[in-house]
Amino acid sequence: MKPAPFSYERAASLEEAVAALAVAGDEDVRVIAGGQSLGPMLNLRMVRPTRLVDIHRIEALRAIDVLADGGVRIGACVTHAMLEDLPSGDRFPPGLAEVLRHVAGGIAYRAIRCRGTIGGSLAHADPAADWPSTLAALGATIELAGPSGRRSVPAGAFCLGLFETAIEPGEIVSAVVLPGSGIRRWGHRKHCRKAGEFAHAMAVCIERDGERLEVWLGSTGGAPVAIALDRAALAAIGGSEAQQRAGVREYIAAALPDAISPGDAYARHLHAQVAAEAVNDTLANRT
Ligand SMILES: Cc1cc2nc3c(=O)[nH]c(=O)nc-3n(C[C@H](O)[C@H](O)[C@H](O)COP(=O)(O)OP(=O)(O)OC[C@H]3O[C@@H](n4cnc5c(N)ncnc54)[C@H](O)[C@@H]3O)c2cc1C
Repeated sequence: MKPAPFSYERAASLEEAVAALAVAGDEDVRVIAGGQSLGPMLNLRMVRPTRLVDIHRIEALRAIDVLADGGVRIGACVTHAMLEDLPSGDRFPPGLAEVLRHVAGGIAYRAIRCRGTIGGSLAHADPAADWPSTLAALGATIELAGPSGRRSVPAGAFCLGLFETAIEPGEIVSAVVLPGSGIRRWGHRKHCRKAGEFAHAMAVCIERDGERLEVWLGSTGGAPVAIALDRAALAAIGGSEAQQRAGVREYIAAALPDAISPGDAYARHLHAQVAAEAVNDTLANRT
């Protein structure tokens, strides 16, 4: 199948793109970035925009900058491949470049990673996408530009559900900002039937200060979900490595919200197992 007819324009700047989104009448105007999700949706006629605004070549959206406070700002049109290929992170906060490289390198196939963008992935909000849970775990902030100016939303509050986000009409994701504090230990696991496919379960665990681990679960069918383990919870688990692994698994299974795959014992087992493995990798510092 081929897309329904639409007109196409390439924006030269973010301001131009925001202005182009200011729709008149019945017009359905959409942004296109890498086209890796929008392309198939157009071809299947699941969406029928009348106009597409291409933001993929806006230079300012393709930049990765280290900020004065040590944080890192990643433009919305930075591709997964650019993050996979990050040079050894001399200026990045400790651990951050490693997490970004690892997660980006596990998304789909290289051809898709060369086109697909971090902003497109967030805006599309497929529950099985890798960036929503990863960026929430990393404590990122999502920058939006729209007709009323710019605003920021914490990544943990950005995805609201299945293909649903905090983006308001006329807004564009302009960047992702990551905090400057270093990462002590981390773990990332996902379960796919076949390498390169969307995952059935995924989890990212980040430890910054030795007091608390936060594990964010993706592929939940809705927004990413957080489970925290503080020092007291970990001390209560204790014991040998084998006991600790089993204890973490039990803790996560008990903390798994009822809303995740209700009535599907296999899926719930998978989510708990994958999350426990991400936590255990973090604790063992094996990543
Ligand atoms: C076969 C296949 C396998 C995949 N596997 C994975 C996987 O394992 N993990 C994973 O995370 N992803 C996966 N993806 C998704 C892919 O990685 C892209 O991230 C995703 O398609 C969206 O990025 P894009 O830049 O291509 O967005 P587009 O397809 O261009 O746009 C997607 C949607 O977001 C909107 N949009 C795009 N950019 C912006 C912006 N800056 N601001 C506001 N709205 C915007 C568009 O209007 C559209 O509605 C897979 C895709 C395919 C085709």
